[in-house]
Amino acid sequence: MVDTAAIRARYAAERDKRVRPDGNNQYIELSGKFDHYKTDPYIPVAPRAPVNDHVTFAFVGGGFAGLCVGAKLKEAGITDYRIIEKGGDVGGTWYWNRYPGAQCDTASLIYLPLLEETNYRPTEKYAHAPEILEHSKRIANQFNLYDKALFHTEVTGLEWDESVKAWRITTNRGDNFTAQYVGLGTGPLHVAKLPGLPGIEDFKGHSFHTSRWDYDYTGGKPEDLTLSKLADKRVAIIGTGATAVQVVPHLSKYAKELFVFQRTPSSVDTRNNGPIDPDWFNDMAGPGWQMRWLENFAAHFSGLGIPDEDLVNDGWTDIAKRLRTRMADIPMEELTPQRMLDAFEETDNEKMSEIRARAEAVVRDHDTAEKLQAWYRQLCKRPTFHDAYLQSFNNPNTHLIDTDGKGVERISEKGVVVAGHEYEVDCIVYASGFEVGTSYQRRSGFDAVGRDGVTLAEAWTGGMKSLHGVHVHGFPNLFFVQPGQGANFIANIPHNLIDAGKTIAAIVSHARAEDKAVVDVTREAQDAWLALLSTGMGSLIGGTECTPGYYNNEGHGWEGEGGIVMQGHPAGAMAYFNYIEDWRTNGNFAGLAFA
Ligand code: NDP
Repeated sequence: MVDTAAIRARYAAERDKRVRPDGNNQYIELSGKFDHYKTDPYIPVAPRAPVNDHVTFAFVGGGFAGLCVGAKLKEAGITDYRIIEKGGDVGGTWYWNRYPGAQCDTASLIYLPLLEETNYRPTEKYAHAPEILEHSKRIANQFNLYDKALFHTEVTGLEWDESVKAWRITTNRGDNFTAQYVGLGTGPLHVAKLPGLPGIEDFKGHSFHTSRWDYDYTGGKPEDLTLSKLADKRVAIIGTGATAVQVVPHLSKYAKELFVFQRTPSSVDTRNNGPIDPDWFNDMAGPGWQMRWLENFAAHFSGLGIPDEDLVNDGWTDIAKRLRTRMADIPMEELTPQRMLDAFEETDNEKMSEIRARAEAVVRDHDTAEKLQAWYRQLCKRPTFHDAYLQSFNNPNTHLIDTDGKGVERISEKGVVVAGHEYEVDCIVYASGFEVGTSYQRRSGFDAVGRDGVTLAEAWTGGMKSLHGVHVHGFPNLFFVQPGQGANFIANIPHNLIDAGKTIAAIVSHARAEDKAVVDVTREAQDAWLALLSTGMGSLIGGTECTPGYYNNEGHGWEGEGGIVMQGHPAGAMAYFNYIEDWRTNGNFAGLAFA
């Protein structure tokens, strides 16, 4: 029997321990003297001449967003497409995150986009990073997305030029060109951050961020995770989020000694990875199979009723199915929003109790096991799934250094200091995550300037405003490709991106067919959409009652600035997908003005 009151009290106490007044300012931006932490370790930057031309469609970001939109535009016959990407190739997060053990957390069959279009069968239920990067390249090759791409290039300016009805784009490589349409798909997690620890510059050993893994130092490579050069090294890893959970087993296996510095434990559920059987796949993968899978998964997180069949069958759908079962026990006349929230809490408490019990069962040392237990609701932080992380703490070389919610005290010349104790190490791996709560402008490196010189920062004073999360009034021919204010579907972001690709291709095709050069959302349509979003229950992730993290703006919540970013269609993801399918195919494009 779960004691709800006791759990609430423990959650609140653990949260209070961690909330800091400095919020996002506790982290260091990778600029100036920390610039080297973001140098590309994978592909050298090649010199090239600046580009001064015009393209039909420019897309900022070569990750899944740019690939999905590019593919759908090419399918629609819009072929003049340019990706602008700060990495040396496509792949986005999978270009940068090549750390040992990197792997998708959502089943490959729904996480890897355009599997049917590329006729590709993933090898594992949860594919590893090299396979996902290869798949990104496969999409780029198949849809000819490399031909005009600019890699190792960061946009520095984006300004609407009414006289030519196009966007002027400038970059850090001296490019200065125009594009009739622009898409922005920079993703929420592309700017790495470091903890702002005193002495961080004084460390005399080696250090790097997980998104710039230094295989020269550790040995091995993404396809061969033998980190043999660590055999005589004492290694520290700072952070225990989703990245660290995947990295730690590999460091534990190869380092002479490993110190894992923990501020807040992750919830670590089972993974159950395994190969995908080619025969099973061939039988299953008839026409339309991937959309069927995507929709089946999304339907588990929708208010429209949960499907009887669970095709994906993973940790995410498990959460949804448990909730459904509990809901089914509630008599119809008692089914109020509050009763539903209570059911959600009961399900969550049950799940988290199981996850805590798992730590206890797996980790032999009782004290270590207790410290690895997560005391917050599962969606307060990114849930994780792994079958070797907790087990690593049974290895004699692996030490959990729990900081009781306070974090590392400081970095010294020789290592990491916690509670006055100095842990001497040769190398510090920062698994400290990415900027999320900082401004869109800071993270993208530019502020779009729309009609009449209005900047995006000005247009979004008080929070993001859009139609469908895609169009912003006053920023014609500009498309935002991200899940907020649309399906807001966090468990499988690629579904949002594929869908956005279809929508954008439909709009551009329509503009062409009607011989219109400019498309903008009307203010009325944008306001009406925001009003619709505000009728929803809000986001089920984060919340200020949660332990701090990027889901809840480091404990400070998203009120005002950014508040509504976290909202999606009030009736859930599938309601949005159904609505937008009709919107883009009925020929009206309601809310858009073509000129
Ligand atoms: P996170 O932001 O989730 O984790 C950063 C970690 O650093 C946290 O454990 C944080 O502790 C810790 N930290 C920060 N400052 C200090 C400090 N001063 N002392 C000690 N510890 C500190 O970053 P990740 O890179 O792990 O993950 C980011 C996101 O990337 C994930 O949430 C997920 O969305 C995505 N991801 C997806 C994967 C997948 O799909 N396969 C795999 C990996 C990541 P605290 O929690 O207390 O703030």
